[in-house]
Amino acid sequence: MKIKIQRESLVEYEVETQDSTLLHVLQTIKTTQDATLTYASGCKSSICGSCAMRVNGTEVLACAYKVQDGDLIEPLKNSPVIRDLVVDMDKAYSFNAKAKAWQNSLSPSTNLTQENEKINEIQSDCILCGSCYSACPVYAVNEEFIGPFSLTRVWRYVSDVREKDSSQKIETIQTNGIWDCTLCNECTLVCPQDISSKADIEKLRSKSAMSGYSDPNFASSFGGGFGGSSFDGSPSF
Ligand code: SF4
Ligand code: SF4
Repeated sequence: MKIKIQRESLVEYEVETQDSTLLHVLQTIKTTQDATLTYASGCKSSICGSCAMRVNGTEVLACAYKVQDGDLIEPLKNSPVIRDLVVDMDKAYSFNAKAKAWQNSLSPSTNLTQENEKINEIQSDCILCGSCYSACPVYAVNEEFIGPFSLTRVWRYVSDVREKDSSQKIETIQTNGIWDCTLCNECTLVCPQDISSKADIEKLRSKSAMSGYSDPNFASSFGGGFGGSSFDGSPSF
């Protein structure tokens, strides 16, 4: 079978293989044809998230995807390419810090029931593979968008019943955050962990509205009559 890999230019490789994962094929090419081929991999079992790349324009984990004849392999989008299929995710990960996506003020007296744990169980499964970040179309127009996996992480902590004060997190995601999402759902379609960042963003929008914030785009379509991103500039939490 033949596959093409986007390196500095598009390079075609022929490999004898059947029913193999993309990662296995990349390893075969590297060990038998071209030792300079560069890609990232770790656990080889869809847990570490380090081998995310695009096949025919869709984000996949190379260790889980079965190669087909004619596949076009490319690095993730929206992050600078370091070499071949390896991208620099530093900026993408920096949005976790920007969005304050961590536990802020833990209430030690609140017991976590099994039901409570279920509220944000799936969000805790994120493996930071970056597939959603790559698939998100917002980066074509706004490089500072906080982005799907960081917003999912914010919801994970905002929805934690032990969190005593989520006001800072809610405030931080009003700019370049929840209102910049187009709700296109591309992030959900590519997530190997079945996380829907789109759904998490919608929940964050509801939480924000309950805290006195509103969509600035909606407000501006009415001539800015709502006064920007908050009804009266002094949201309540
Ligand atoms: S739903 Fe929002 S966060 Fe997800 S890919 Fe679309 S614009 Fe990006
Ligand atoms: S939310 Fe899903 S696609 Fe996005 S980084 Fe986490 S595991 Fe990957």
